[in-house]
Amino acid sequence: MSCKNICEKYSAAKGRRSSYYAQGYKRCSICEIFIDWDGIRCPCCDLVLRTVPHEKTRDSDI
Ligand SMILES: [Zn+2]
Ligand SMILES: [Zn+2]
Repeated sequence: MSCKNICEKYSAAKGRRSSYYAQGYKRCSICEIFIDWDGIRCPCCDLVLRTVPHEKTRDSDI
């Protein structure tokens, strides 16, 4: 698995204030890029993408 530069087509355009994760983008740690992609795996290197659901867990545990 390695970056074939396919991910560049899907690279995320960062908004002014919110983070990439907040905008629903996913990060590929092999390509080292945030992409706008609906799939679970990177279309480029096939790595499972990292997402951070934006919900606060502070008050909801225990
Ligand atoms: Zn890539
Ligand atoms: Zn990738």
